[in-house]
Amino acid sequence: MASGLARIVSLLAAPLALCGGMIAATAGECPGNPSALGTSRTIVVDPREHGRIGTMDYAETLPLVDREVVLTFDDGPIPPHTPKILDMLAAECVRATYFIVGEMAREYPALVRRAHDEGHTIGTHSMNHPIKFRAQSVERGNMQIDDGIAATAKALGGPDKVAPFFRFPGFGHTAAAHAHAAAQGLQVWGADIPADDWHKIGGREVARRALNRLESKGKGILLLHDIHARTVEALPIILAELKARGFRVVHVVPSSAERPATVTTMAQWLPHSRSAPAVPVILIANVQDPEGESLMRRSDAELCDLSPAMPQASFRTAVRKRIQMATAGEINLPYIDPGQPKAAHAKAIEVKVKASKQEPANGAKAKAPPAKVATAATASPPRVEMHAVH
Ligand SMILES: [Zn+2]
Repeated sequence: MASGLARIVSLLAAPLALCGGMIAATAGECPGNPSALGTSRTIVVDPREHGRIGTMDYAETLPLVDREVVLTFDDGPIPPHTPKILDMLAAECVRATYFIVGEMAREYPALVRRAHDEGHTIGTHSMNHPIKFRAQSVERGNMQIDDGIAATAKALGGPDKVAPFFRFPGFGHTAAAHAHAAAQGLQVWGADIPADDWHKIGGREVARRALNRLESKGKGILLLHDIHARTVEALPIILAELKARGFRVVHVVPSSAERPATVTTMAQWLPHSRSAPAVPVILIANVQDPEGESLMRRSDAELCDLSPAMPQASFRTAVRKRIQMATAGEINLPYIDPGQPKAAHAKAIEVKVKASKQEPANGAKAKAPPAKVATAATASPPRVEMHAVH
């Protein structure tokens, strides 16, 4: 924790830091795209002050204000999906945080460098992405963390280019692994909003879930994966909708001696009640969420899982094989947790569907101009006005 004087210096320096080269173009400053979504601001965080963030797993989350979102992409990089996603982010002058898998960095170092050079924050996500991280021994778990960082640093040409941001594969953390991460000065990132892009659903459904959950929470860290075609399909919808709905993208970077942390209060890191949501305009009509919106928590195996046909021997090989199969139209398997018997999986789905049916319906379909109507706080979900995407 900074001393009083350092705090004052920090207070004075923080706006300067935001004006430096790291800040992304705002909407009006995006070359070739005057109507770009842009990146509204950059938050500088001190990993040692806030070691674990993301309300899906932890008590604290980023100090965002209402209608701010942080985009995160896990598991890559891998062609052809990562380059497409980078192209889309660049076109909108949006900066994100990547959680790189070490063996992917080893195989595709140029893509890691590209993401870094285009201004995105590069965190890490283990060396081999073990699906059941909790089942690793303490030593193996620590090696997964350390080796992933080392491989990513090698791809970037130096450890200083890797942010001390780490996300556990499948959020499969343990007390020992948390302790190791803290000892390494890492900030452990969970997330606030899943988009289910690891499930066998369409890109529009990924976008719909991301946006509905974001509307419900009002702000937060959005969890995406740049290894899936459905995420490539979903991202343009998500970016367009964020812009249409008045959301602002926030970029997060780690503090350093030259770059002091953005001054915040402890309360800003705690989830708290938000102002009443505006009536959202949803461009994706007629898509029902079979799992409901209350099922925000996922098991380790559900998060970042792979097809049961894919062995875990090499995460990279499995992902690449799946991309090849998808390209050839050969994947036609339901996504089943490989650690769960089929009957138990079916039962779990049944329970989830039942739970979703008990939730209030998501409002009537109606054509309406984009509405900016503030509503009073209410216990019921926000009303939704919908029209179709063309
Ligand atoms: Zn992952």
